[in-house]
Amino acid sequence: MKYIPNIPPPATKRVVIIGGGFAGTELVKRLLKTSFQIVLLDKNNFYQFQPLLYQVAMSGLEPSAISFPIRRIFRHRKRFFFRMAEVTKVNPEKKEVETTIGAISYDYLVLASGVTTNFFGNKELEKKAFTMKSVSDAIFIRNSILENYEKALDFETDEERQPFLNLVIVGGGPAGVELAGSMGEMKKFILPKDYPELDFRKMTVHLFEAGPKILSNMRERSSQTALKYLKKLGINVQTGIAVQGYDGENVTLSNGKTLKSKMLIWTAGVTVRRMNGLDEKLFGPGGRILTDGISKVKGSQNIFAIGDTSLIQTEKYPKGHPQVAQVAMQQARQLVKNLVKIQKGIQPVPFKYTDKGMMATVGRNLAIADLPGLSFKGFFAWLLWSVVHLVSIMGNKNKLVVFLDWATNYYIYDPSLRLLIKPKIRNGE
Ligand SMILES: Cc1cc2nc3c(=O)[nH]c(=O)nc-3n(C[C@H](O)[C@H](O)[C@H](O)COP(=O)(O)OP(=O)(O)OC[C@H]3O[C@@H](n4cnc5c(N)ncnc54)[C@H](O)[C@@H]3O)c2cc1C
Repeated sequence: MKYIPNIPPPATKRVVIIGGGFAGTELVKRLLKTSFQIVLLDKNNFYQFQPLLYQVAMSGLEPSAISFPIRRIFRHRKRFFFRMAEVTKVNPEKKEVETTIGAISYDYLVLASGVTTNFFGNKELEKKAFTMKSVSDAIFIRNSILENYEKALDFETDEERQPFLNLVIVGGGPAGVELAGSMGEMKKFILPKDYPELDFRKMTVHLFEAGPKILSNMRERSSQTALKYLKKLGINVQTGIAVQGYDGENVTLSNGKTLKSKMLIWTAGVTVRRMNGLDEKLFGPGGRILTDGISKVKGSQNIFAIGDTSLIQTEKYPKGHPQVAQVAMQQARQLVKNLVKIQKGIQPVPFKYTDKGMMATVGRNLAIADLPGLSFKGFFAWLLWSVVHLVSIMGNKNKLVVFLDWATNYYIYDPSLRLLIKPKIRNGE
């Protein structure tokens, strides 16, 4: 395989990073203050802020508000190189990775490639369900929802129309809950105005969670409050019921019942996609890559894994740290410090996660926050959620756009992004 051209040999050591998400971009930001040469590889040329994907899917935000070009973030930086490429194989013996555009050697390799949706081996669901892991997924959901309502108008009977109105969301984690809440608000405040000929009282938004409660990572009280909020918005929440099959219209449930929906969004699990060249034994529970306390892949000397891909088992986190943005960013910061130490021959320091709490929003003024030693709900939780997300979005223009969108939507409940724009496909392609 040819080598990726136009990246000079490093004057010092080269760090190759796979993935420019939360962990990868934070790693680059910190590494820029060191003497390492940095090569960032990502299959997309932009960073995406996944916590707000559901707002793009629900026509609340434009895709560009939560995406940021990687080249723009690290413009005019010496010793930094970005290539839009998918990494297909790691070759630890040769200290090289293979990508869709060629190979590149590394002194240190960092796997920060995140996770993919887990269908737990159910091929039918994988084929027919919608996922929400990327901006493209979110646009696809947005278009499909709008298209379903347009199509629903073409039918004469309720029976024919019903599957186009119903929406099924699987997974009662933050993504499923936020999506369901947002859809509940759409149904209540927006859709009846856009489609006066359709009777949205007949539309049902179902949220299925196989476990005993929604938001299982949050405190019991917060989980109960979220359930109350969802019910207030008219969502049919069912816990202890798993979705077992979906053929594009019929949803099969673990209680033997079925229901009809043209749209099923799967947010019920994630897994790490296998990376060729890495020993199968390195992939632990959830497919996460087994690493030691300093995020070094077990058995390797110079390969590290951080963020959602990595699994550090500690006494406090025997099943690994939560797969959230804070862990990814804190792990990245610690790794930079450790790479500098390793270079200097100093003992690296194990990663220690500082848990700042968890939040989820169900709708306008309806949120829950579990902070260390303190839980609260309602308007103040919603305000805190909004501020934290606004501050975390990359780019001042994006912050302003999101703020303006949220401020207008708060008062008029009517986002104007319900546009069915599809990519053009050439004939025969
Ligand atoms: C819908 C949704 C809502 C969420 N809400 C929250 C929330 O409210 N709060 C919170 O803290 N966390 C939330 N999360 C989780 C959070 O987004 C993740 O924990 C975080 O993104 C992990 O960062 P990461 O860098 O490990 O992976 P990612 O941010 O996923 O980045 C991985 C990057 O790797 C790239 N990549 C993957 N494979 C390859 C390859 N083979 N070659 C090249 N590039 C590759 C991808 O393009 C991507 O840019 C949410 C996630 C989702 C999907």
